Amino acid sequence: MKTMTCKQLGGACDKTFQAETFNDMVGLSKRHGMEMFLQEDAAHLKVMNEAKELMQKPEEMLKWFKTKEEEFNAIPND
Ligand SMILES: [Zn+2]
Repeated sequence: MKTMTCKQLGGACDKTFQAETFNDMVGLSKRHGMEMFLQEDAAHLKVMNEAKELMQKPEEMLKWFKTKEEEFNAIPND
């Protein structure tokens, strides 16, 4: 298992997620983001707005994903 924080995944807090694969990690981060969105957490809403802009540029989005995947791969297993 590898551990990453919400912040490391482009979020806004220090909550940690544990997953075996990068895809699972992104899934956990998304689910948490959705919960924060429903709670109207200001810090998360802000980063989500920024992410929305990023999503309009598929190339930038891909680059972002690749960078995060490399970060994930570089983290030692727990
Ligand atoms: Zn968070």
